[in-house]
Amino acid sequence: MSGATPLRVIVVGAGLVGSAVGIAFRRAGHHVTIYEKSRFSREVGAAVTCAPNAMKMLLSLGCDPKRMRGVEYSKYFKKDQTDDDPTFISQGTDLPKKYGATYYLVHRVDLHNEVRYLATEPEGVGRPCELHLGAAVKTLDPETATITLADGTVASGDIVIGADGINSAVRKFILGEDINPQPSGLATYRAVIPFEKVAATPALSWISTNPEALAMVLEGSRNLVVYPCRDGTLLNVGGNHREEGKNKEEYSKLDRQSSVEEFLETFSDYAPRYKELIKMSPDVSIWPFLIWDELPKWTNSRSALAGDAAHAMFPMLGQGGAQGFEDAVTLGILFPLGTPSDSETISTRLRLFESLRKPRASDIQTMSNRIGRGLPVLRIGEFSIFRKGENDES
Ligand SMILES: Cc1cc2nc3c(=O)[nH]c(=O)nc-3n(C[C@H](O)[C@H](O)[C@H](O)COP(=O)(O)OP(=O)(O)OC[C@H]3O[C@@H](n4cnc5c(N)ncnc54)[C@H](O)[C@@H]3O)c2cc1C
Repeated sequence: MSGATPLRVIVVGAGLVGSAVGIAFRRAGHHVTIYEKSRFSREVGAAVTCAPNAMKMLLSLGCDPKRMRGVEYSKYFKKDQTDDDPTFISQGTDLPKKYGATYYLVHRVDLHNEVRYLATEPEGVGRPCELHLGAAVKTLDPETATITLADGTVASGDIVIGADGINSAVRKFILGEDINPQPSGLATYRAVIPFEKVAATPALSWISTNPEALAMVLEGSRNLVVYPCRDGTLLNVGGNHREEGKNKEEYSKLDRQSSVEEFLETFSDYAPRYKELIKMSPDVSIWPFLIWDELPKWTNSRSALAGDAAHAMFPMLGQGGAQGFEDAVTLGILFPLGTPSDSETISTRLRLFESLRKPRASDIQTMSNRIGRGLPVLRIGEFSIFRKGENDES
């Protein structure tokens, strides 16, 4: 529809989902401005899994698995005791046939670089998103789609999408109340190890002979999750566990520094072959899992929440980012170029967005919360990862 007036879209947050939302609106022909608190001068993090539903969204937004250096997941291994190599459970190579896309294992930084590139690259479809770094948003008026930055700058558009993550600053303006996730008692150690170090260690031949595999080693409520990323040059090692005896304030800090010693102590009864892995970790961080339940709503007038700001969830199902990418693509479809900018149309479309996306994302959030709360084990294909806990309600 040439000659149609583009909408002025404001996105709060340029994380994985905010960037994807920017791409979706840009490709639909709108003018997007993204405000991001961070300067991304020191991006860290470990790997994430991009399940077929995530990949379908990312591919539709133009993502290139080669550019994001993804590893095609090929095999799943699991071990319920810790004294031996994990056992082969299933093949991942049939996933494209079953679910319509390949399952990729990607370093979070590489994935973030890719979505940010697609949002801002000069050559892509539509007008590049305008990205303001070091721009923390403080307030939002949902009725007028107006935001205020920490430095006092005021900006208005036709729509504001709050994609500012689990501790969202704009969520309270959309909900009209402050609802925030709380510490769950669960956390994960995160480390990435050069793959060549692993390959040079005989005790870890189960990894070097299966370089594209994902393995889980379970013991009670703890598990080690091991898989490659960055073209197979790095190995991601996650250590899910319960945080015992830490004060709530210390425990709740996202992505805080930890150590090999702390990681080893928590997994001290694991067999030497697994502890070898932990010992190789050059840098260990710890990430608490916060928990909350479905929000009462996601939209208000000209504003909506997307990604973790709307539905942060435990990572055990590998669906937090994936659900955010589904949000982004849905928004792009619901707002084609030519959408009128009057508040009635915008708020009706955003409510439609909520009605399409919230039931699905909330179901997945609920499933992951059941894992965190120790409720009866969930089996999703071969991925049943936690045993029944003491709070078992059955
Ligand atoms: C340990 C772990 C493992 C995970 N594994 C997987 C997995 O395998 N697969 C998967 O799909 N998902 C996984 N996830 C979830 C996934 O990482 C998140 O769902 C995803 O990063 C959410 O993206 P987001 O853009 O909504 O939030 P974020 O990535 O948190 O981005 C929010 C952005 O908003 C910015 N911001 C915050 N406040 C403001 C403000 N006031 N003004 C402006 N900007 C602001 C932040 O700086 C940040 O850049 C995992 C999560 C964890 C913790």
